[in-house]
Amino acid sequence: MNKNLTDIILGTPFLDDLPESARRAYNIISNSSVPTQNLEEIATYIWNRINKVKIISIFTGFYCKSGFETDGPVGALILAEFFLKNKIPVQICCEKELLKIMKSIIIELSLSNSPLITPFENINNLKDSMVFTIERPGENIKKICHTMDGFKISHSILPIESEINKNLPIAWIAIGDGGNELGTGYYRKTIEKLIPYGKNCNCGCEGGITAYKEANRCILSVTSNFGAILLSLELAKQKKIKWSVPADKVTQIIRHLNKHGIKDGVTGKKGTVDGISIDLRKKMYDLVNSLF
Ligand SMILES: [Zn+2]
Repeated sequence: MNKNLTDIILGTPFLDDLPESARRAYNIISNSSVPTQNLEEIATYIWNRINKVKIISIFTGFYCKSGFETDGPVGALILAEFFLKNKIPVQICCEKELLKIMKSIIIELSLSNSPLITPFENINNLKDSMVFTIERPGENIKKICHTMDGFKISHSILPIESEINKNLPIAWIAIGDGGNELGTGYYRKTIEKLIPYGKNCNCGCEGGITAYKEANRCILSVTSNFGAILLSLELAKQKKIKWSVPADKVTQIIRHLNKHGIKDGVTGKKGTVDGISIDLRKKMYDLVNSLF
């Protein structure tokens, strides 16, 4: 894999400036006990299966202490826009409160192509679907979902995990950043060893926060948003599709999310994602855009 791309998706060039919460993917991949799944192969895997896909299904939404967080929805919207631009239908699904907000934001952004906003009860086509889970809570070995500080998630969680199990999609790509996200189980041995509360959580279930299930492919990145966006850029590159994701676009979506009460899942603040400052985010996207 392109060394630059591996480094960038993990935030290696910015490691000194990244908050601890955004260094988890770097720590996991740098110490991984299994071969790293790389972005180029994952993009090829997706393109090789796309002809069979009737609809792309994107699941996102992670409930932190007091609400859903900014990591996940940004990547979901941008990945959706990429597929729609290429005439591939997309549906987005998440918990009801967030679904309503996503619907509003799509209108506010006046996107030229809009994804379908599908309530979970209307999801009935996973078998003909390619599924992306972007920053979704994943059950640990005891079937409990946890926040990164080791507690059981207090909000109710849609049974997306069991739905994927029951109706296996054409392909399932998981995107996460810390190892408690759905589908990131491929790296679970390293996550248990390295990530705080990975093996021993605070909730008493004794299963740790490490997500158990493995998607067909798994991307770990500085933030899940960043991973999803880099994937869209790599997908575009492989098919020579004109596509870019400027930092301003990301900032604009975050602003809309903030307006609806969606905040940074780590700091609880507006403007940022996982504690990464706006300046640093701009530097990261500027570097990415110089590469693609
Ligand atoms: Zn627990």
